[in-house]
Amino acid sequence: MVDLSVVVPAYNEEKVIEEFHRRLSDVLNNLGISSEVIYVNDGSKDKTLDILKEIRNKDSRVAIVDLSRNFGKEHAMTAGIDKTEGAAVIVIDADLQDQPELIPEMICKWQEGYDVVLMKRASRKGESFLKKLTADMFYKFIRKISYINIPENVGDFRLMSRKVIEALKSCGEETRFMKGLFAWVGFKTWTIEYERDGRFAGNTTWNYWKLWNFALEGITSFSTLPLKIATYIGILVVLFAFCFGITEIVMPTLSDDGLLIFCVTFIGGIQLIVLGILGEYLSRVFLESKKRPLYIIDKFYKSGGE
Ligand code: UDP
Ligand code: MG
Repeated sequence: MVDLSVVVPAYNEEKVIEEFHRRLSDVLNNLGISSEVIYVNDGSKDKTLDILKEIRNKDSRVAIVDLSRNFGKEHAMTAGIDKTEGAAVIVIDADLQDQPELIPEMICKWQEGYDVVLMKRASRKGESFLKKLTADMFYKFIRKISYINIPENVGDFRLMSRKVIEALKSCGEETRFMKGLFAWVGFKTWTIEYERDGRFAGNTTWNYWKLWNFALEGITSFSTLPLKIATYIGILVVLFAFCFGITEIVMPTLSDDGLLIFCVTFIGGIQLIVLGILGEYLSRVFLESKKRPLYIIDKFYKSGGE
């Protein structure tokens, strides 16, 4: 059994993956403990897989999980994590935004007895003001309304001990909001602050529509508050209608068409919103009920060359 497994999800990273591996292997060579690197090729459409195969031929620590198509980072990470054997597991992005040079510090904390070592971004270099603002709002919001404590500005870059990995593996849900699951499993945690670099090359695959859906996923996976809000809005509207009716009986002055249209559209709108919220949850129940596998592996290239 190896001491450390490094999981690297990669989607169209041909421009960075070689440099990434060079920097990572420099670190691993000097770590003094045994290690393996599990690259997950998440259905890349460029040369990522070919380059990974070359890397694997030269470095016997490297294994590759080649997924059958693009499943998204959350599922790709899960695929990689499921293949790990190390006593500690580190998840790191391939684009060098998370510096591999921080790994020794993480290992130190793990050896001191922490089961989870979180990497907290002190700043978000190379990211737009709007992304920073929306990320900030999202963390604040989800911490308020969910029953788990998702740490702010902490991405997927982290170390987890075998105990934590086994706990994670027992979470089989299809809607994989990893930040939430990571927080949900708990364990003794240490946080290290770091300066997150800009992307080394290539482009982020995230856009605002994806981020919005990601946020919805997080909220609906870890909070039922929106469903309750629907109930309370309903109660408020009924109260409003009741008072309105009473006023109308006592002093019938409000029989204005405009007001009628307002009321009808207002209540209609609220009903649609509430239906939409219900739909968000229902669609997730639907997805979960199918119990499909979380990812499909095309081929697993074991570590140890050929
Ligand atoms: N990634 C992936 N599958 C995807 C999208 C991204 O495995 O569908 C990987 C990507 O190769 C990188 C990491 O997830 O290693 C983070 O992606 P990205 O840099 O695009 O996101 P950001 O850093 O902007 O959050
Ligand atoms: Mg990135």
